[in-house]
Amino acid sequence: MIISRSVSDFLKIRSNIGKTLSVGFVPTMGALHEGHLSLVKQAKSNCDFTIVSIFVNPRQFNDINDYIKYPKSFEKDIKLLEDVSCDLVFIPDKNDIYRDFDGVDIDLDGIDSVLEGKHRPGHFQGVIDIVGRLFELVKPQKAFFGKKDYQQLLVIKTMTNKMDLDVEIVGCEIVREKSGLAMSSRNTRLTNTQRENAAQINKILNKITVKNILDYNVETLIDHLTNEINKVDNIKTEYVAICEPDTLKSVYSIRNINKIIILVAFFCGNVRLIDNKYLHF
Ligand code: AMP
Repeated sequence: MIISRSVSDFLKIRSNIGKTLSVGFVPTMGALHEGHLSLVKQAKSNCDFTIVSIFVNPRQFNDINDYIKYPKSFEKDIKLLEDVSCDLVFIPDKNDIYRDFDGVDIDLDGIDSVLEGKHRPGHFQGVIDIVGRLFELVKPQKAFFGKKDYQQLLVIKTMTNKMDLDVEIVGCEIVREKSGLAMSSRNTRLTNTQRENAAQINKILNKITVKNILDYNVETLIDHLTNEINKVDNIKTEYVAICEPDTLKSVYSIRNINKIIILVAFFCGNVRLIDNKYLHF
């Protein structure tokens, strides 16, 4: 596996990757787990050459403490990527990656201003800045993103369409622990008890099924989920939302539609986590 730590070095290597080879790209912030590796495996099975980036992007953290405490394990990450036969890992430095780059200036049609965008001001601007910059350097044919960060996936799709970029955005299923807890780098900051607590959220969401969804009206369902989640020790919801999966517009009635996404952000102790559940009925 090639390890590249600077933009100039990366560009030299990129220019030597055969023009006919398709490049699959997986941007990450490191502290890799099976969720990230599932994206790498999908890139490998869909493309000729797989590039992973590891960069803890300061621009997308609205909370400086969250940035400082974000787990870092570069050496372990490199080993994990070698084990799944990744072709190249790009680990740039923040001054290098943002040198001579003004940021991405596009209107995301409001998909960035609800939910995570509302609760984490500036977050999605930081996300499109780094993903825009990385796309410019990596020039992938396909890029792989997890549905755990569902809104991020839609933001990236919107950015790609608006900028008319020639890259296919592939959404990948959420990888979970046996307990149902969605894998996340931030889970390493939880105690064992908190992990058990956080795993309850997926169990609560899973009680809503295609069979019983029509028994609820939306307001009651949001209240019900909020109450159930807040009953779990150490857990405090930030939001529970029910939205149209393609637009993230709030759903007010389930009667005339056949798919929804339930999105949840919550604190477990002082660690902020997100999860979601997609339902097609
Ligand atoms: P991050 O390192 O948190 O920025 O995540 C990098 C990529 O991995 C993003 O596209 C995430 O959505 C994806 N990802 C993170 N956790 C999971 C998971 N549990 N299952 C699937 N994809 C994930």
